[in-house]
Amino acid sequence: MSEKNPMKIKDWLDLNKDIFSDSDLRYILKDIFSVQSCAFLPQEPLGKDKLKSLETIKKSYRKGIPLAYILGKEEFFGHEFEIEDSVLIPRKETEIIVESAIELIEKKGLKTVLDIGCGSGNIAISIKKYFGDKIEIASSDISHKALRVAKKNIEKHNSDVGLVMTDLFCGFKYRSFDIIVSNPPYVEPRSIKGPLRHEPRIALCARQAGLEVIESILWAGVNYLKRKGFLLLEIGYNQKEPTKEIIDSLGFYEIIDWIKDYSDNWRGVILKTKEKYG
Ligand code: GLN
Repeated sequence: MSEKNPMKIKDWLDLNKDIFSDSDLRYILKDIFSVQSCAFLPQEPLGKDKLKSLETIKKSYRKGIPLAYILGKEEFFGHEFEIEDSVLIPRKETEIIVESAIELIEKKGLKTVLDIGCGSGNIAISIKKYFGDKIEIASSDISHKALRVAKKNIEKHNSDVGLVMTDLFCGFKYRSFDIIVSNPPYVEPRSIKGPLRHEPRIALCARQAGLEVIESILWAGVNYLKRKGFLLLEIGYNQKEPTKEIIDSLGFYEIIDWIKDYSDNWRGVILKTKEKYG
């Protein structure tokens, strides 16, 4: 483009649109130009700053860096969360876990909630925003970098969610909750391929075919639950059977339900502590 004929968004799109998926491109344009819809994109020349932003995004996108990390944000449960590469990108399937938690909290009138491995805080904040002062919610992560992101999101959403840096339950000695929710790391290290390579391993990977952390939460969780407390866990698409085996062998919990995701995969389990363990 010459000085006389400076580049407009239409020209840039003609040159670059094939690089992006349609939905990613719309998301990028709406973000860069702060417009509700791509129908409102400016017609005038782009200007140096906008062009530079678009080119920077393109460079990272071509390297395969997920868009949430490039833009530093992702939508989850209708809310916007700040995202850095120290936390997992919130997933659609995890919204189903949040829906189930909300349904259970509402139906059973639960008051105290713990989110183990909170990452960006997406689960805890979404639940807290739904219930407001009706519940108290604590959350934890082993990674201080993740907790920094969670703190930013707590402030952004003005949401009263407690944060504790701890490996699983150590930081919650002598406390007990009505419900524990968790999206733990459950991917086998050898399955970390493609875009998953950009996400923090500590949030994704677990040994023993991805079951190590699930097993630890099931093993210890019962000690941090009130009488007839609930445990709601996200699991990998192929982990229903092995998770069931662990639950059965421990004998602490009654299985209330299994949860399916939008792709028809088993994605979560709802458990209740058996009377004698609560
Ligand atoms: N749902 C993510 C995936 O399979 C993994 C999240 C996790 O390990 N908790 O890509």
